[in-house]
Amino acid sequence: MGLPRVISLIFSLLHSNQSTPEKIALIQEKRFRRLLRTAVAKSPFYRDLYRNIDIETCRLADLPVVDKPTMMAHFDDFVTDRCLKKAQISRWLEDKNNLGKMYLGKFVAFHTSGTTGENALVVYDRRALDFVHAAMISRHAQPEQMTVLEILGILLKALFIKRLGLTAVLMTGGPYPGYTIAAYLPPFCQLFVKDEIHSLLEPVPKIVEKLNGSYCNELYSYPTMLDILAREQLAGRLKLKIEQPLATIVSASEPLTETTKHLVQKAWGMKIQDTYGSSECFLMARSCGKFERMHVMTDLCCIEIVDRQGRPVPDGKTGDKILLTNLFNLTQPFIRYEVSDVTGYSTEPCSCGQPFPTLLPVEGRTDDIFYIDRPGAGYDAVHPYLFLGPIVELTQVREYQLVQTGRNEVTFSYVPVDSGAEVENKVRKVLEDGLRKAGLINRITLKTLRVENIPRDNRSGKIRQIISRVGVPADLDDDFPRHQS
Ligand SMILES: [Zn+2]
Repeated sequence: MGLPRVISLIFSLLHSNQSTPEKIALIQEKRFRRLLRTAVAKSPFYRDLYRNIDIETCRLADLPVVDKPTMMAHFDDFVTDRCLKKAQISRWLEDKNNLGKMYLGKFVAFHTSGTTGENALVVYDRRALDFVHAAMISRHAQPEQMTVLEILGILLKALFIKRLGLTAVLMTGGPYPGYTIAAYLPPFCQLFVKDEIHSLLEPVPKIVEKLNGSYCNELYSYPTMLDILAREQLAGRLKLKIEQPLATIVSASEPLTETTKHLVQKAWGMKIQDTYGSSECFLMARSCGKFERMHVMTDLCCIEIVDRQGRPVPDGKTGDKILLTNLFNLTQPFIRYEVSDVTGYSTEPCSCGQPFPTLLPVEGRTDDIFYIDRPGAGYDAVHPYLFLGPIVELTQVREYQLVQTGRNEVTFSYVPVDSGAEVENKVRKVLEDGLRKAGLINRITLKTLRVENIPRDNRSGKIRQIISRVGVPADLDDDFPRHQS
């Protein structure tokens, strides 16, 4: 355990980056069987669920799907450690004094911040967290392009001259996945890394002030916050320099849009390393040093893309949800666990040569899509980024939110930087131009609203830039065309 274990994991994961898909498949198979054996030996839930299945020979697709309500209803039997009881953990989590502590001294536990139904309770042990941290380091955009000697040189400099600056702007002080990763760094990391975690609930000028007084090698945040910070940087209010070595901007937790990528490139002259994870598996995919598409960490998890009925979706197409198998969390086995994420495998290989398959560019979550009435019959699925794109270049706007307030009506709320009256005209002009280009100007009623602040989402605390109040139409045809790349 501890330092030697993390270091050996880092080097074995680095080694996998250079491996072949066949060798990765062998690693995956080995971890998959270990997961199944642990689940059946120690989880009464899985022992019963797999009672008629030969876990030594079955394929992943032979196993039944598990969803969140089922997992939560059987939580105490679902986990592989009999000390873990849902009621006790939930009570422990309610006590704010336990923030940053480990449950029973050995587990990190938190509730997810889903928008529907009961929130999931997720538990990791130290060993599983070590996997996450080792993967974050070994799948970082920069080390994968460096030699071992170069990496050692950087570590020695960090140890003896100046520590690497990790600056995170996240939802803090609660059971949030990003914060959990940042807050539970292995203790020895402090020797190399100076981490600063800022709360995104603070007013933007306050965050800007703090960032202006610090140095940074890696900036880690949500795309919506990176979007805000990039606009602050472009307007000259933020003067954050992302320094070498390992200069990186990492995006987490939400789909990264072209407009945010473009803004960050303009503000700092660099590309964003995108990551994709969930509470049930912190790191599922990550873009490589080519920054083009995300590679699925198939040595750490299995991701099956399925449609609404749970049928497999072919590569090159986007599904409606995924079935996730986390290969390293042996305490709470997530095996073919349903997650409502919209993604798909790409059929094009990445030029970096890594052995991991890549994902299609993420268009956004299903609930980010606005369904508007189609003249004649049915609906058109419109991704608001179609017409929202140019707004991010308006540096007079600090924060914004676009809400579908009626089937064919959207309301754009924004926080202006100063009180000038001309902002309103600019905002309207940019949005109307966008709607015109998307062919929607005569079909969508646009309302604009100047506000003091954009309320944070109640559950996640994040800013939701896109919200539909009217949702998916109840009479939407199930055969509605899926988005294709
Ligand atoms: Zn690549």
